[in-house]
Amino acid sequence: MKILLITPPLTQLNTPYPATSHLLGFLRSKDIQAEQMDLSIELIQRLFTGEKLDEIFQNAASHPKLSKQNKILLQNADFYLKTIEPVMRFLSGKDNSMAQRFSDRNFWPQSKRFPSDDDLEWAFGMIGNYDRATHLCTLFLKDLCDFIKQTIDPHFELIRYAESLCLRLPEFAPLQAELQKPYSLIDKLMLEIFANQIAKTKPEMVGFSIPFPGNLYSALRCAQWLRKEHPEIKISMGGGYVNTELRSLSDSTVFDYVDYIIYDDGELPLLRLLTGGELVRTLYRSSTGEIVRENFDSKENIPFSEIGTPDYDGLLQNNYINLIELTNPMHALWSNGRWNKMMLAHGCYWGKCTFCDGSLDYIHRYESAPIELIVNRMEEIMQQTGQSGFHFVDEAAPPALLRKLATEIIRRKLTVSYWTNVRFEKSFTPELCYLMVQSGCIAISGGLEVASPRILEMINKGITIETARESMKNFTEAGIMTHAYLMYGFPTETAQETLDSLEVVRGLFEEGYIQSAFWHRYAMTIHSPSGLQPESVGTKHIETPKGSFANNEIPFITTHEIDLEYYGKGLNLATYNYMQGAGYEIPVRQWFRK
Ligand code: SF4
Repeated sequence: MKILLITPPLTQLNTPYPATSHLLGFLRSKDIQAEQMDLSIELIQRLFTGEKLDEIFQNAASHPKLSKQNKILLQNADFYLKTIEPVMRFLSGKDNSMAQRFSDRNFWPQSKRFPSDDDLEWAFGMIGNYDRATHLCTLFLKDLCDFIKQTIDPHFELIRYAESLCLRLPEFAPLQAELQKPYSLIDKLMLEIFANQIAKTKPEMVGFSIPFPGNLYSALRCAQWLRKEHPEIKISMGGGYVNTELRSLSDSTVFDYVDYIIYDDGELPLLRLLTGGELVRTLYRSSTGEIVRENFDSKENIPFSEIGTPDYDGLLQNNYINLIELTNPMHALWSNGRWNKMMLAHGCYWGKCTFCDGSLDYIHRYESAPIELIVNRMEEIMQQTGQSGFHFVDEAAPPALLRKLATEIIRRKLTVSYWTNVRFEKSFTPELCYLMVQSGCIAISGGLEVASPRILEMINKGITIETARESMKNFTEAGIMTHAYLMYGFPTETAQETLDSLEVVRGLFEEGYIQSAFWHRYAMTIHSPSGLQPESVGTKHIETPKGSFANNEIPFITTHEIDLEYYGKGLNLATYNYMQGAGYEIPVRQWFRK
């Protein structure tokens, strides 16, 4: 059976999301006919053309309540129409000659979003024209996205679609109601591209990979179209969103749209679906309308060493676009540059943090492969893509493995660059960090979470503030950029502990040991140790009826509840300033204002 794997809109636009290329590499290694498509970037490339923008402007002109900002944008329609395609060519690296012109602040129309010349000079200096132009082009696109969202399609954002609809979806009905509405302009465009691909590829099965809530609606829109136009084609879906949110699915209506839902690593479930044999971790609807859960708890998997090399065929012709929204260089890595994405190992070698989805396969099954095989995969991917930069998308790359990796890269005399996630543990000595830099490591990210000794222990992170600071120092002094994931609102965390945590973060920025950071609100998930045993972190579940569609976050009560919105705003404001090298002298308490 031939399969077409799809990344549905919308997700990152600078490089392919890794799921389909990993599956394609594996399926082809088993001689299965398989193709892939990144519908996300293809949609954006078709949307941001003069022709489509003209259609959008014409539609928006009759909008009954245009904001002042949108009226100004429409008055400048000619500028947007003549500039959009050169901008897209520039962002996709096809016309670098526009850097000088696009980096000039005066080239662009007035917009609240655009920074002053002084801010631009601080961030990019006198010669950083290419990045400066990329930043200004990104802001130009963001203005257009706001316009589209406010006038044409409320679901539209640059790297997610209908996310707010799908973020918390205990019942399927709201999504189904949305799917019954007439096609939007974005739907029509997406389905046109999708239909062409179906006609070209002629698959017998289409597999949607859904990493985030912001990919769900569009996958089901495509599935709905496929059911109507090509009822003979089977439809499956899986991916990160499915694995975390849909494990207790009991409403079978979703099977009006798809035939199979598969869980955890997709290699084995897809192999069985495509070649026959016993299904594994697969749900479908029986002829009597019940949901059948085939070997749902099976731990059977293809060993990590046998999953093959990711295959980029079908993606290389796409015009991925570089985006720089924030001028922080570490932050820009996520949206700028065409990184080859692969894993050094499967799962997390620690796997004990109480807030993390440790009961799920993608965390708790730690498996590595010989380092020679990993570096062979890197060399094969470089051959395919012509790119030497790698983002290792591991949950936490072990120090011992990074040491072997660095040694092997140096032994083979490869010139590469790479970045990955780590735990800030004491094994990252100056000597290991130096070795990593010599082999091409440019950046790392890791969880400091709540920078409070008491809470760090409760979280079971296995690090202390001192060891984290020491490893961050070693990374920075070796020349590796460092990003810290931070968390607020952990059960029993007091207001004072939240301020103390920010004080630790402030100090790390001031000392230059981290260059970027991001605060996440703690969410108690049903797959985490804290969700499975809430009393272990001093909380109680609030009993709520179980949803028949998505279930992940659990409401809870705890002592010392804090105003999460108030503290979240202050933490983000302070950290935004720290990332721009500002505000270190301001006492942390002053970032919090009613
Ligand atoms: S939070 Fe990170 S280090 Fe902790 S268990 Fe999860 S993946 Fe591993």
